[in-house]
Amino acid sequence: MPSSQDRPLFESWGRYPSLPAEVHNLFWKEDFPAAMESGGKMLPVGMGRSYGDVCLLQNGTLLRTPELDRLIAFDTQTGLLRCEAGATLAEILDFAVPRGWFLPVSPGTKYVTVGGAIANDIHGKNHHVAGTFGLHVPSFELVRSDGRQFVCSPTQNPEWYSATIGGLGLTGLITWAEVQLRPIVSRRIRQLATKFVGLEEFVALSKASTHVEYSVAWIDCVSQGRNFARGIFMQGVHDETPGPLTPLAKPKLTLPFDMPAAALNRTTVSAFNTLYYHKQLRKQQNSLIDYEPFFYPLDSILQWNRLYGKQGLLQFQCVLPWESDTLGMVQLLQAITASGLGSFLAVIKVFGDAVSPGMMSFPAPGITLALDFPIRREVSFALLDRLADITAGFGGKMYPAKDACMSAAHFQQFYPMWQQWAAYIDPAFSSSFFQRVTGLD
Ligand SMILES: Cc1cc2nc3c(=O)[nH]c(=O)nc-3n(C[C@H](O)[C@H](O)[C@H](O)COP(=O)(O)OP(=O)(O)OC[C@H]3O[C@@H](n4cnc5c(N)ncnc54)[C@H](O)[C@@H]3O)c2cc1C
Repeated sequence: MPSSQDRPLFESWGRYPSLPAEVHNLFWKEDFPAAMESGGKMLPVGMGRSYGDVCLLQNGTLLRTPELDRLIAFDTQTGLLRCEAGATLAEILDFAVPRGWFLPVSPGTKYVTVGGAIANDIHGKNHHVAGTFGLHVPSFELVRSDGRQFVCSPTQNPEWYSATIGGLGLTGLITWAEVQLRPIVSRRIRQLATKFVGLEEFVALSKASTHVEYSVAWIDCVSQGRNFARGIFMQGVHDETPGPLTPLAKPKLTLPFDMPAAALNRTTVSAFNTLYYHKQLRKQQNSLIDYEPFFYPLDSILQWNRLYGKQGLLQFQCVLPWESDTLGMVQLLQAITASGLGSFLAVIKVFGDAVSPGMMSFPAPGITLALDFPIRREVSFALLDRLADITAGFGGKMYPAKDACMSAAHFQQFYPMWQQWAAYIDPAFSSSFFQRVTGLD
């Protein structure tokens, strides 16, 4: 076995932490048992688009799946797609949109695999009407390190189905999955953008639009005084007038270098937020736009995470239950302001009541807030601790897919089911996240 110094470093999207690991690319599901010859612990990995260490395993073997990406079957009448787990949402869109079908749930990037989407039970702008991704996965195959393979669905091996959706990649390798797509007649989205000031106005807009398929808001988490918690609330629906379904040209810019660490500071973030808030002059603005900028504005710049410099970024996402009213959110925003750190990618949204199918799924009814912070030694980590404490104090929870520093005590409070779930973990699998938040191997 190579020593940890010989192993290449592997990073997730946040670029923190960077941990040594062997990487084994899977082309066929049969490659999985072969990968076990290396001994030691393993972890399946998709596109590495999680931010922290759920997709990292220090000194272990990462089973990379993006080559396990074949589309297997598609029913043109019902929109049911069966594909290998390494297929990305981008590949599914390229196939499905020209045929008049769309993803049931989509995160803020299309560069994630189906396996990753299931293992984190991801959510999108339509959580309030559609729930999580797992609710649209009628079945998948799970392969364990002892060679056992079983199909999981709400009725077939239901306990494995529930442990694997949101199961952080630890219950075994998902090899293929079925995804129920939804019909569309156009690539276009009818968007309504509304400016708001304050969390009460945000909540009122959210409650008034529960029937609208997509909604999400950008929030300025730097401004204070009468501009405190100002933002832009975006709603959208698929255009019902038949329109283009053909793919757009692939316009891609790649950020060619790491930005200097000092480029993102309170002044630049504050200037960006003011410009962004005022880009729309009127209170409300209607537009008809392609689904790409509506769902994936950040995907137009490949490797945008380099904006944060070599040291990377920390993400924070929590959900606070309705009982905490807006008081918890006010405290989170005040803590951010007090830290002197800013985030220009701050997103706030209301989650609906749909019950997630995974025993460890993150979404729950209430308000969710997601932010990115540049890593600035003590100040960033101290802020994240403070935000975690506030979340815990208001009975909320944090999202493992976007975490690099949640404490074991917080994790175990946020996910009281974790010990029942841990009984389903494959003995040959582990992750650096799991080791950090449980103290187990
Ligand atoms: C710009 C951006 C926006 C985002 N927006 C959202 C959002 O709106 N909503 C949201 O929920 N998330 C969001 N995310 C997070 C992202 O959707 C999740 O982290 C997703 O799980 C990443 O998928 P991946 O293929 O990159 O998986 P990875 O990050 O590589 O792995 C994620 C987890 O899946 C497991 N896994 C991967 N493949 C398999 C497999 N075949 N079998 C078993 N386990 C497997 C891994 O072990 C790991 O635990 C965003 C991320 C980015 C970078």
